[in-house]
Amino acid sequence: MEVAATSLLENIFKAGVVGAGGAGFPTHVKLDCKVEYLLVNAAECEPLLSTDKYIMNAHADEVIEGVRAIAELVSARESYIAIKSVNERETRSVGDAIRRAGADGVKIFPLDNYYPAGDEQMIVFDITKKTVPPSGIPLETGAVVSNVATVLNVRDAARGLPVTHKFLTVTGEVVYPKVLRVPIGASFKTCVDACGGSKLAKFKIIDGGPMMGAVSDGEDIGEKYVTKTTSGIIVIPDSGNFIARLHELAVPKMLNRAKSACIQCTFCSDLCPRRLAGHKIRPHMVMRQMAAMNFDETMNASDILQEALICCECGVCETFACPMGLSPRQVNKYVKKQLAGTRYARPDMPLEPHPMREYRKIAPRKIMARMGLLNMYENKVTDFEEITPETVRIPVKQHIGAPANPIVKVGDYVTRGQLIAESGGKVSANIHASIDGAVSEAGSFIAINAAGAA
Ligand code: SF4
Ligand code: SF4
Repeated sequence: MEVAATSLLENIFKAGVVGAGGAGFPTHVKLDCKVEYLLVNAAECEPLLSTDKYIMNAHADEVIEGVRAIAELVSARESYIAIKSVNERETRSVGDAIRRAGADGVKIFPLDNYYPAGDEQMIVFDITKKTVPPSGIPLETGAVVSNVATVLNVRDAARGLPVTHKFLTVTGEVVYPKVLRVPIGASFKTCVDACGGSKLAKFKIIDGGPMMGAVSDGEDIGEKYVTKTTSGIIVIPDSGNFIARLHELAVPKMLNRAKSACIQCTFCSDLCPRRLAGHKIRPHMVMRQMAAMNFDETMNASDILQEALICCECGVCETFACPMGLSPRQVNKYVKKQLAGTRYARPDMPLEPHPMREYRKIAPRKIMARMGLLNMYENKVTDFEEITPETVRIPVKQHIGAPANPIVKVGDYVTRGQLIAESGGKVSANIHASIDGAVSEAGSFIAINAAGAA
């Protein structure tokens, strides 16, 4: 299907497409550029998720259609789909789709199986051999990176179809782990119930993957809702595991531990993927500086503490590197919060990758073993189900930028795909009804109840 470039950008805006891989940056803003490289992130780097794998197996033709449309939009000279070479089935599926479409300009780039291979800065480096400057974006190297699920949504947007549903993996301590396709606004409880429910009476849930997902208590499961960026829901035991322990560790306690136990071995810095790609980030130095400060002391943005600002929070330092069980990532997060509003000053130095980078890539399996999640890692999720709940509660802020403004009121009847909240500015996104039904709430959330439909 041929869509003129300007109208494709307009269609992407109208459809409310945002980055589906995590951040939720509005896609009509991101793709309003001209680049040398279009890089499709199909690495699925979070170890327990199978969402992107499902998309590559079940919707490869649509993905290729989306890649070609975006490549034309951004005038990309080269287009790559980055898939881990260990994902042979997905590589075959996408390769077959490329051949069926005669899309000779689209290439598959085989990524090594390391974490975080799906960090967009790693993808840019692995494919183009250029380092994205610290605090910079891929555009500075002539590249734009889009997640494979976003590409699928762009393909739909080109056909006038808005984003109403999300693919996500539900796994961990559930009876039947599955990839689901659910309406945006479905509760996490609905998703877990669709997988036979939790096997545990008391549990925690991870919104996303085990490395970077947000952890919350299982009791909150009915109050959390699928958004355009939800890629997974993982049920884990409530206590006695690495993630639960970390979640319960208060910041002052964590900093006290850092003071008393950091032995300055530098492993956290030696294995930091951003440092290995060429950035001046040394978490062991941040730990040292924080150990010398009081918890409530006012921070100034010293050169060392500023390094925390370029931490991507991948978690390699705390889940794998540190032999003392410390959390440089959490310390960096804390420092970032304290320095909010500080502009990172790029050092005047060449961006050279570390000579040991290739040898310090960490296999996800090793990290999962360290975190005590090997069983879950080896239990690959292949089952699929589409669910249609009776009610959804859709947040008007589920993307980077301004929230969308509701244009429906309580009592209105809406149909699936109808615009219910308008983009709140240039960096924002439209939101559409994900099921037919009556609006029962129209504020920061728009709730729709199918039972109330006319
Ligand atoms: S979380 Fe740790 S390993 Fe990852 S970028 Fe930040 S400092 Fe580096
Ligand atoms: S790895 Fe742990 S002990 Fe070693 S320097 Fe980093 S925080 Fe300190």
